[in-house]
Amino acid sequence: MKIMTQEEAQRLFDGLVRKHLKEHWILRFTNSARSLGITEYKHRLQTGRVNRIGLSKHYLAHTSYIDMLDVIKHEFAHAIEFERHNTSSHGWRWKQMCRITGADPSRLYQGETPTAIKQMNRERRTNAKIIYELTCPKCGRVVIKNRKPNATLACGSCCKKYNHNRHSKDYLFKVERIR
Ligand SMILES: [Zn+2]
Ligand SMILES: [Zn+2]
Repeated sequence: MKIMTQEEAQRLFDGLVRKHLKEHWILRFTNSARSLGITEYKHRLQTGRVNRIGLSKHYLAHTSYIDMLDVIKHEFAHAIEFERHNTSSHGWRWKQMCRITGADPSRLYQGETPTAIKQMNRERRTNAKIIYELTCPKCGRVVIKNRKPNATLACGSCCKKYNHNRHSKDYLFKVERIR
């Protein structure tokens, strides 16, 4: 698999800046393991720093040249939209910008805009919720709980059906933490 070197990425970047962008932009190589690329617009971030496009060193080394090229064009579509509209998402306007840069608008690279990162963090927090799966050894019923159940918790329907509605150790749930 042919990969893109940092020098090649820099050359492509310089060419695309000259071709499509008016403001000053820099390319940086990030250590991100989660997102391939990120476009940061200074006016939007209000950091007083420069506009920059970041590419993950990790992905650069493990992604094919052709895919990385699409990531760069994808980020440039964001950059053009930022310059023109001070905002960028993956909406219809960004898709128009993709036509300018030649990016494939159907491909999204998670987390490359600040908004997308916030969204992703929200999702991660939600997904971080602990989940226990309780399985009844008798009837196979599965119950989901968000906290660790008491070790003596038994399957109610089996206790009712087979033990005169009294608790039985025979029907203790098998508890497995799945998340
Ligand atoms: Zn994007
Ligand atoms: Zn049961």
